[in-house]
Amino acid sequence: MTADDRVEEPVSGRLEHHINGGVLEPGDEGYDESRRVWNGMIDKFPAAIVRCTGTADVIAAVDYARENDRLLAIKGGGHNVAGKSTCDGGILIDLSLMNSVRVDPSSETARVGPGAKWADFDHEAQAFGLATTGGFISTTGVAGLTLGGGIGYLARKFGLSTDNLIGVDVVTADGEFVHASEAENPGLFWGLRGGGGNLGIVTCFNFELHGVGPEVLTAQVVHPIEDAEDALYFYKEFMADAPNEVACYATVAHVPEVPRFPEVLHGQIVVGLFACYAGPVDKGRPEFEPFADFGDPIFAAVHPMRYADLQQFFDGGQPRGERYYWKSHYLQSLPEGAIDTIASRTESLPGRYTQIVIEPMGGAINEVDETETAYPHRNAAYTFGVFSGWGDPNADDEMIAWTRNFHEEMSPYATGAVYSNYLDRDEEERISAAYGENYERLVELKEEWDPDNLFSLNQNVQPSS
Ligand SMILES: Cc1cc2nc3c(=O)[nH]c(=O)nc-3n(C[C@H](O)[C@H](O)[C@H](O)COP(=O)(O)OP(=O)(O)OC[C@H]3O[C@@H](n4cnc5c(N)ncnc54)[C@H](O)[C@@H]3O)c2cc1C
Repeated sequence: MTADDRVEEPVSGRLEHHINGGVLEPGDEGYDESRRVWNGMIDKFPAAIVRCTGTADVIAAVDYARENDRLLAIKGGGHNVAGKSTCDGGILIDLSLMNSVRVDPSSETARVGPGAKWADFDHEAQAFGLATTGGFISTTGVAGLTLGGGIGYLARKFGLSTDNLIGVDVVTADGEFVHASEAENPGLFWGLRGGGGNLGIVTCFNFELHGVGPEVLTAQVVHPIEDAEDALYFYKEFMADAPNEVACYATVAHVPEVPRFPEVLHGQIVVGLFACYAGPVDKGRPEFEPFADFGDPIFAAVHPMRYADLQQFFDGGQPRGERYYWKSHYLQSLPEGAIDTIASRTESLPGRYTQIVIEPMGGAINEVDETETAYPHRNAAYTFGVFSGWGDPNADDEMIAWTRNFHEEMSPYATGAVYSNYLDRDEEERISAAYGENYERLVELKEEWDPDNLFSLNQNVQPSS
């Protein structure tokens, strides 16, 4: 069944008395806020929004959607660029109220609700000097990011977010509650670690934690855009020798108008190198010495910072509600042609919120076998993203065309694979590349756990029967 085949009729009060957290329908107070997602290009109107406060609400909503043949969207942090966490006319399960984070410092683990954001997670875990790999922006949801993979400053040291899962509680398409781990339902556990929301709704994530911080050594080094080529060569050499503790991002963007950057830089197009050392601060200092010896930065800070602050450093660079269109690649290296293309394409950068981002992969990410979890991309050295962002709807066509062209120009240097969490709404044909050699096993799991494709609003693996 596809999304288009499902019926649309009013939900009225039929669902409400089973739901603790309440059901919002068009016109209700809070409906508009709850239906919206991070990407302002997505403007959808579900027939009903189920505000879940616990697993019982999730089960009731799943049962209702299945029994009444309703399109079903699941919203964790609502940051999916393709807008997969909302829908027109169907049921939206809003998990944002289920945002508790319970850290057990003695076992160094955390039980995390599916509505938690990375800021919630870091706040609790850092109270005990603990962390696990989270995203670069603290307002992103733990749920969607982890189920697709989860790349962040700590990933080269501790693996992806999903690699740090010990177990999950899941509500399945037939409304059953199951636990999945290496010992229990291992196939489902395998598929949830990289397979996104295809197989069920996770109502609790159990993570392994690691000692991090409270302060980590960081570098924020900003060069003028004229030096982009040199900066990218420096970046390539810097990462080539970096130990797993070091993660450095290279970005081209307009300096956001926020106090942490000098006012004189606001709005300028710059190339930035942003690094973290995931280990003792003093051990990191020699690793970051090359920053002092390179070029003529217009802003340079190499200093210890609270890990929780680092995780929020870039919040607001791509504000919620603006217009976004993303395209990305994985790269195995940064050859001359790729660096030339990035440098020439970014001399002028359309879109106030556009960010060109090279993320470091490798390290512990690539120490996992490609088929050990559903996330398959264990060979890449970087991701490369053209993450375009702007405010004016009249610029949509121009911005989308610019993004596609830039992405296309980078294709000769790319692996052909793509990160499922960065796929946008017009990239259905790239879904099999996102799951790579694990795609067929995901199809088998889909047939086992969701044969009618109730969970269709995601980077969708369709059952073959
Ligand atoms: C500003 C920004 C920064 C980002 N930075 C990073 C980064 O540093 N690293 C990185 O890896 N990614 C990053 N991402 C991408 C991010 O991983 C995806 O956008 C991810 O989908 C966000 O998760 P969410 O819970 O906020 O999304 P949502 O939009 O709520 O959900 C995404 C998908 O997951 C499904 N889903 C949500 N919750 C559940 C659940 N409990 N059970 C089953 N399925 C569920 C949804 O149905 C949807 O298909 C970033 C995204 C943005 C917008």
